[in-house]
Amino acid sequence: MMLLRGRVMSCGMCGVVRGVRASLSTSTTSITPQVCIIGSGPAGFYAAQHILKNHKTARVDMYERLPVPFGLVRYGVAPDHPEVKNCINTFTQTAAKDRFTFLGNVAVGSDVTLAQLREAYHAAVLAYGAAKDRTLDIPGESLPNVISARRLVGWYNGLPEDANLDVDLGIESVAVIGQGNVAIDVARILLTPVDLLRSVSLCSKTDIPEPVLSRLSESRVHHVSLVGRRGPQHAAFTIKELREMVNLPGCRPHLHPPDYTHLRDLIPELPRPRKRLLELLAKTALDKPDAKLSAAYASATRTWGLCFLRSPVEVMAGPAGEVTGLKLALNRLEGEMGQERAVHTSEMETTECGLVLRSIGYKGVSLDPSLPFDPRTGTIANEDSRVKGHQGLYVSGWIGTGPVGVILSTMTSGFSAGKAVVADIDSGRLDVSHSRDGQECIRDLLVKKGVDVVSFDDWNILERHEESEGMRLGKPREKVTSITSMLDIMHH
Ligand code: FAD
Ligand code: NAP
Repeated sequence: MMLLRGRVMSCGMCGVVRGVRASLSTSTTSITPQVCIIGSGPAGFYAAQHILKNHKTARVDMYERLPVPFGLVRYGVAPDHPEVKNCINTFTQTAAKDRFTFLGNVAVGSDVTLAQLREAYHAAVLAYGAAKDRTLDIPGESLPNVISARRLVGWYNGLPEDANLDVDLGIESVAVIGQGNVAIDVARILLTPVDLLRSVSLCSKTDIPEPVLSRLSESRVHHVSLVGRRGPQHAAFTIKELREMVNLPGCRPHLHPPDYTHLRDLIPELPRPRKRLLELLAKTALDKPDAKLSAAYASATRTWGLCFLRSPVEVMAGPAGEVTGLKLALNRLEGEMGQERAVHTSEMETTECGLVLRSIGYKGVSLDPSLPFDPRTGTIANEDSRVKGHQGLYVSGWIGTGPVGVILSTMTSGFSAGKAVVADIDSGRLDVSHSRDGQECIRDLLVKKGVDVVSFDDWNILERHEESEGMRLGKPREKVTSITSMLDIMHH
């Protein structure tokens, strides 16, 4: 990288006059394409990886709202599934590339606007995930112990904004609305014996923060029911997660056999992954468990259940405003096989519970009014990752696809966004004939605003701190859950 002698430019945003950055390739000079990525989850890191690997000179700057990287890999993936987080190793290798910079603790939309980034960079990749969740819009939804699964997940994963979540676990029965993998995750964490989450005997498996473990150890929860608006054949969770529930220590399934008898007729017609899932469901509900499971179930003190063709229409409260139960509409299914919709009948029933967890999907938000954002789906309209009507703007991951898909599918989306950026630079579709200032100009703006920008080295300092605290406690890490403390540790 060198400064082209004699060529200077002044930045329209901060007025600073700088030399033009350029890169040398053999005997000719060319402008360095400046790319920014917004969000440091899998969508951001996989897009960065693709761009850095497939373009020889492009620089990638990654802006992240939190002082720490990795999005839902750190703050969503269940703490008892640490192997899923191995992708962090690949992300860390990407972060070590010399054409990559991490700018943490910078919220795009408030600390810096999308328009400012677009002026400073040739291309911007929106990879900021789905920050909110869908709501039920029913009476009682704002009662104290009605909480989104998203926030409970944030709480047990140490997300700063949820570190002090007001959840009362001094109740016996929990209703989770929704039957996806997030619903299963929260049910499993609430039902797993806390000593297993601590796993002292197994050299500690989870990094659940100590204050959360302490609250879980006092939990009185002994039944969790997952409420689905459609039938068992429509359950959105996957077989590995169901198998874990079936085998969960200290816990047994409490399933209503008549809900499952029709499944065995359906199974032969289904594609393989679905077939295996429903076979396990039917077996668990209808067959006698083997001797080992029978013995485990006999001593179980906690239960989980699935309830189908039910939609909550009201959360009921007692005199002190405490959650006492759910009023459910009984549904029938309408529509073609495979695309059935749940329709309420006039029949209602009530079920008792003291905590309601809404797990009906995450939802993306708009960062800027100029974006072609669909508030219904929470996504930005795009074609092959290119944002419609906005040259040089791309989407990657959940903000483009919607809040579905595992890390592997997000990787495909990230690579697709990276591929679009590189193809557009190479084909000239993206104008890189004039140099852009990239992070230098943005850093000036952020300094003026008093934003404490965090680097990947700063994150490494925090990571080492968390690991050494974890070692003291016999666990992989003890997460720091306050942003102020994170910044203190990074800078001192
Ligand atoms: P995210 O991971 O959410 O990353 C978005 C990033 O953008 C975040 O770091 C966020 O802080 C940042 N950001 C947001 N707004 C701004 C802003 N204004 N400015 C700057 N930065 C911003 N998949 C699996 O394969 N296995 C699992 O076990 C698994 N478990 C999951 C558990 C849960 C609870 C959830 C919700 C998902 C799980 N997934 C799992 C799916 C996986 O997490 C997603 O596929 C993936 O994280 C989506 O990546 P993303 O980068 O689009 O979004
Ligand atoms: P999801 O898989 O889309 O499940 C959402 C659930 O909510 C479905 O059962 C859906 O039922 C239900 N639902 C939606 N709107 C509803 C409403 N208005 N009323 C009642 N129920 C409603 O979403 P998720 O569980 O949030 O997971 C998000 C993604 O992350 C998924 O792709 C998931 O696989 C992935 N993930 C993976 C893992 C893992 O691999 N272990 C763990 C967690 C998450 P309908 O089918 O009727 O719409």
